[in-house]
Amino acid sequence: MSRCIFCDIVSGGAEASLIHEDAYCSAFLDLYPITPGHALVIPRRHAVHLHELPQAERDHLFAVGYQVLEAQRSAGIGWAGANLFLNDGPASGQHVPHVHLHLLPRRQGDGRRTLIRFLARVASLFGRPCPRSELDELARRVRSGFSPPD
Ligand code: AMP
Ligand code: ZN
Repeated sequence: MSRCIFCDIVSGGAEASLIHEDAYCSAFLDLYPITPGHALVIPRRHAVHLHELPQAERDHLFAVGYQVLEAQRSAGIGWAGANLFLNDGPASGQHVPHVHLHLLPRRQGDGRRTLIRFLARVASLFGRPCPRSELDELARRVRSGFSPPD
């Protein structure tokens, strides 16, 4: 059986800098952030594609994603905008075969650096992981402004 790093995070078997957890999904910071504060929202259920999820869980994933965006916006990290994307399955360039919504906070003037890091990702170049202490501190700030969806 192949191991899924996101299932390991859900089960508590792998480390993550958590923003939110509930019965259906989990939100945490990306270990190889394209921009500082880059977050992922994943379903607790293992699924490679969005269409494998029950509709209620899919809807909940996006609702939590929006609340994470609001929390990033109020975290005092220079938020000026965001990129949201989801690679739906390996054919789309998905590296971790477990559904995840990316939320990338954007700052004024970060275009060039973000583009370079994004292109590196498309070429499967991840670079070094962000130190856990930095991720934990950032996650704490984002978490403090997080409200679950209604
Ligand atoms: P994708 O290319 O859409 O499959 O994105 C997978 C994302 O998972 C990438 O942005 C990786 O940096 C991120 N990632 C991989 N391993 C971990 C991990 N252990 N904790 C947090 N994020 C991870
Ligand atoms: Zn999984």
